[in-house]
Amino acid sequence: MNLLFPVNITENISINGQAFLLKFRRPFDFKPGQILGITAHENITPRLYSIASSPLDEYISILYTLKAEGQLTPILAYLNPDDLIWITGPQGKFVFNNEPAWWIATGTGIAPFYSMFLTNQRPLKLIHGGRKIEDIMFRPDLSLLGDYIICCSQDSGDKIYPGRLTQYLNDFENLPQHINYYICGNAEMVVDVRNLLIAKGINFRQVLTEIYF
Ligand SMILES: Cc1cc2nc3c(=O)[nH]c(=O)nc-3n(C[C@H](O)[C@H](O)[C@H](O)COP(=O)(O)OP(=O)(O)OC[C@H]3O[C@@H](n4cnc5c(N)ncnc54)[C@H](O)[C@@H]3O)c2cc1C
Repeated sequence: MNLLFPVNITENISINGQAFLLKFRRPFDFKPGQILGITAHENITPRLYSIASSPLDEYISILYTLKAEGQLTPILAYLNPDDLIWITGPQGKFVFNNEPAWWIATGTGIAPFYSMFLTNQRPLKLIHGGRKIEDIMFRPDLSLLGDYIICCSQDSGDKIYPGRLTQYLNDFENLPQHINYYICGNAEMVVDVRNLLIAKGINFRQVLTEIYF
């Protein structure tokens, strides 16, 4: 973990009760897809978060889920504008190389892809999964993509695939073989999707992952 420095929060809003969008003034350059460390207390080891904003934006946005039993996020969720947090500089190599690719995310795992999207990087297909439609963040913007698939395991309706994204992928008899697959989200989902892709003939070198463990 690189050195920590203080920043003042400018915004910390609840999106759906579970997911929050935290903002502070951007103190450094970064590449879309990168992460940074955040803590709100000297006794709490910094946690890692994907940057969910454009490198050109004056502010950095972080999309985080409140974990009721967690150490950091219950504190983060109560912070107000002007409160201090401590962050690291940008890190990580989950960046898009602009080769043909599908982007696959669950929940807040959409964050790095949204940063890439805001920078005009484009996938052949974006698949975003969540339990309910309110878990699918940044929908209005991402709907501008030509091929944007929303999978909800506990919701149905217009333009919603009613099931998990693993089921959506499994429905394909033939997946595109010569593209890259970028996956971001919790460990269980990333491992399930990676195994599914490999079982369908995708070379593991074409599978790039960011795991929120
Ligand atoms: C590369 C990377 C990028 C990430 N990006 C994001 C992001 O953009 N957005 C986001 O929301 N998250 C992201 N995460 C996850 C994030 O770093 C934190 O892990 C998450 O916010 C939880 O932090 P916390 O301190 O609230 O919970 P923690 O205290 O870390 O606990 C996490 C969970 O584990 C359980 N737990 C803790 N200790 C134990 C124990 N001893 N036994 C059993 N269970 C236990 C808790 O109940 C809780 O549900 C990312 C993680 C990585 C590695």
